[in-house]
Amino acid sequence: MFRSVTSRLVFLYCLLLVILGGAFLGFTVLSFDYFARETTATALSNRAGEVWNISQSLLDQPARLADVIGRRFSPEPLDRFIRIRAGGRTLYQSGAPENHEFDPSQVPLTSPAPSPRRFGNILLYTATFRNGQGSPVTVETGQSDQFSRTVQRRLATSLFIGLPILLLAAALAGYFLMRQALNPVEAMINAAETYTFNDPHNRLPLIGTEPRIEALGLALNRMLDRLDSAYSHVSRFSADAAHELRTPLTIIRGELELVASNARQPSDVEQAIANALEEMTRLSGIVDSLITLSRMESLWGKRTHAPVDLMALAVETIDQMSLMADEKNITLTGPGGPPVLVAGDRERLKQVLVNLIDNAIKYTKREGRVSVQVGTRDDKGFFAVEDTGIGIDPNHHGKVFERFYRVTPDRGEQGAGLGLAIVKSICHAHGGTVSLRSVPEFGSCFTVEIPLLAAKSETAAANVATAASVSGKPA
Ligand code: ADP
Repeated sequence: MFRSVTSRLVFLYCLLLVILGGAFLGFTVLSFDYFARETTATALSNRAGEVWNISQSLLDQPARLADVIGRRFSPEPLDRFIRIRAGGRTLYQSGAPENHEFDPSQVPLTSPAPSPRRFGNILLYTATFRNGQGSPVTVETGQSDQFSRTVQRRLATSLFIGLPILLLAAALAGYFLMRQALNPVEAMINAAETYTFNDPHNRLPLIGTEPRIEALGLALNRMLDRLDSAYSHVSRFSADAAHELRTPLTIIRGELELVASNARQPSDVEQAIANALEEMTRLSGIVDSLITLSRMESLWGKRTHAPVDLMALAVETIDQMSLMADEKNITLTGPGGPPVLVAGDRERLKQVLVNLIDNAIKYTKREGRVSVQVGTRDDKGFFAVEDTGIGIDPNHHGKVFERFYRVTPDRGEQGAGLGLAIVKSICHAHGGTVSLRSVPEFGSCFTVEIPLLAAKSETAAANVATAASVSGKPA
């Protein structure tokens, strides 16, 4: 029911508050009842003693007795009840209270008891004393407890209404505080989402957090350090291996070309050499791609800020690749419009375009269409390469950017599966992204977004525009 830690903690906290609130309500109402009874019992027994003290000498003078008790205790206005009985006769009984809360004539005759008893609205205490002749005299003192019961009821009602409101306020405050407390975790999640390998500045923030969360952040940062160093190790290994392979490959290739130039070869040897040369060219291509990849990775987070006009770059690249498209009768259309200046490495960005257009032509049937658009979106410059080719199944969308990944060998793929990995790596090194939309059998669209050159580089942008117009290229 409650998936997040916040809602679970708030629920438990509210449950605790409900239990505590209920206990508080019950305790308050019961204690009030207890104290009211205790106070009344003491007051009634004291009053019985006092009544006896002032009346014992006046028992045979009913008029004086009534007068003295009336002056001393004013029973009626204060809704008190006093009755004195001796020898089966009532010597004195107070009148009806002014607020008519009880009828004195209805108060039953009672025998002595250690504590007051309730009769209707009245709490009645009965005590017996002995007069001079040793005969028993019963003094009954009573008090309506209507007022204290009303107060008790109102207290219970107020608590009953007030507690849920208080509870709601406490729950909201708890939720808010909980969110505040988890803010550092939120910040850590955001930082973890944008984490990239080999960027020592890209670490989880430790903003005065709760000690355990801070300890977790520190531990994760140390883990990221170890991951970075392991990743660098692997990258360096593949870069070194590629470099080491390059020289012997060049030598073997040279030797093979030399042998191939010897005209006096049997035709099967000639064919074998031609095959070997073809494979050698493919192998050199893979080694070059691996070297490019490792170079790009070492540039991650260290963007160079030379201004590059994506519009001019796209126009120029399309111009150079149109022959390739013509060979398959594919219509290759390009963009037009104002310059789109980003900060980057022109040659690398061109490689991105070449790889994407090359793929688009490769995976589009004859007579198809490939189009390139260039523009700006928020603070990014973008180019999109769209084709009407064979498309890519959604299951492969995330994987096609991995190294050596090819969708299926039966789709006519000829590359080693490094082209898109290079595209992604170059985009990454420019602080940009590459995304893919594709529907099998309908076509694909690869979109690359690179941060636009900052406004402060307006001068640099102007220089590029001038340089482009001087060289006659579209700017
Ligand atoms: P390769 O150099 O082998 O083409 P890439 O990394 O460029 O490798 O591409 C990876 C895989 O993505 C390819 O094997 C191909 O199946 C698929 N792919 C790339 N671009 C397209 C496209 N425009 N249309 C359809 N499939 C594509």
